[in-house]
Amino acid sequence: MSQANPATSMPSNPMPPVRAPLKPLDQALAELLAQAAPLPAVERVSTFEADGRVLAQDLLSGLDVPAHDNSSMDGYALRCADWADASTVLQVKQRIPAGSHGHALAAMSAARIFTGAPIPPGADAVVMQEDCMTLNEGLGDAGVRILVQPKPGQWIRRRGEDVAAGAVVLQRGERLSPASLGLAASIGFDQLQVAGRVRVALFSTGDELVMPGEVAPADMKPGAIYNSNRFFLRALLLRLGCSVTDLGIVPDRLDATVAALQAASQQHDLILTSGGVSVGEEDHIKPAVQALGELNLWQIAIKPGKPFAYGRVGPAHFIGLPGNPVSSFVTFLLLVRPFLLRLQGVNDVTIKSIALPAHFSWPKADKRREFLRVRRDAAGGLELFGNQSSGVLTSAVWGDGLVDNPAGQTIAHGDTVRFIPFAELLA
Ligand code: AMP
Ligand code: MG
Repeated sequence: MSQANPATSMPSNPMPPVRAPLKPLDQALAELLAQAAPLPAVERVSTFEADGRVLAQDLLSGLDVPAHDNSSMDGYALRCADWADASTVLQVKQRIPAGSHGHALAAMSAARIFTGAPIPPGADAVVMQEDCMTLNEGLGDAGVRILVQPKPGQWIRRRGEDVAAGAVVLQRGERLSPASLGLAASIGFDQLQVAGRVRVALFSTGDELVMPGEVAPADMKPGAIYNSNRFFLRALLLRLGCSVTDLGIVPDRLDATVAALQAASQQHDLILTSGGVSVGEEDHIKPAVQALGELNLWQIAIKPGKPFAYGRVGPAHFIGLPGNPVSSFVTFLLLVRPFLLRLQGVNDVTIKSIALPAHFSWPKADKRREFLRVRRDAAGGLELFGNQSSGVLTSAVWGDGLVDNPAGQTIAHGDTVRFIPFAELLA
């Protein structure tokens, strides 16, 4: 990483470098989120297509769900008071499959009933068919012997127990999950008003970068590397419902960087770049963004992921991620993801961690808060990936999450640590 000291990379400057203090992650996130005013665009989509989108309306239920008391078993609906003992026989006078409805239950009678069918008036319990014996079936009115004493209310799902009419079942600013699509459908919504897709322009910087497919591994020139960040950043953006304009690789030249930023600032809500945010003379993001707009270059007190830039280019937000793949990946998850969710109107963007035992030791504390790539083992603890270098992307594939280790902290085998599963961060 070209993180040259400004004093040595700019020989014309005789002043010793003034190092800005590293910014704590929570402060960087708070400052970033303060810039993330939810975007105004909304669209109507089919409920089928709304997974992962953010609701832009409160969903108010116009009905009770379920709409009637109904049976949760295949069996017989009856009146408990009619039962005397295990020899009790009731006449089966009606049959109520799901989708139909019965009528008032006569004394000493039962209704054959199926799961989901409305409980007929007068019945106060359902007996599952396994606890009954059918008699003289097919010979006119069948009888049924109820072998087990019914308890009032048993196997009845109550009207409105899932949703009460008038309740807000899903709120504006909630991110829709497969289950919430089902819930929206259960109160009759076939279309939903959701936040518009965040329009993101993505590009990578670095003259060393080559696209897989364009140059075969055997033909790679010395110093060349494949562009990996482009692939995972694009995929991460798509998972968050963004529409992505992929502008490819921008050469390490100021004019090219300015031109790319200028083009990207049109019709996009966010310009996201990787690489070039250190302050070496090959890092042109800083002067280019400053020429067109404003830039805050932050050194965030995390490892991996120190350099991070936030600014604006024309109407668009600008975020510059570090070039090292793991730094880029981790800063995306910790900072860009909440930023994108907030742009879509999500209120709660906090990342939840869980306490788990470390089945490794980490004897050397770091000045920065660390995000270690780990995975859960069969014994319910965490194993550490051996190489925690910010260039080793294998760690993020091998791992199934991050240990959030406070600055200055060592970890002994068996210590409880904070684990953030990738499942939480990649959803
Ligand atoms: P930079 O932040 O531009 O100084 O880059 C830091 C390190 O990340 C260097 O080793 C770069 O080669 C590497 N790097 C930058 N961009 C990418 C990318 N898109 N894919 C893979 N590695 C990258
Ligand atoms: Mg670079």
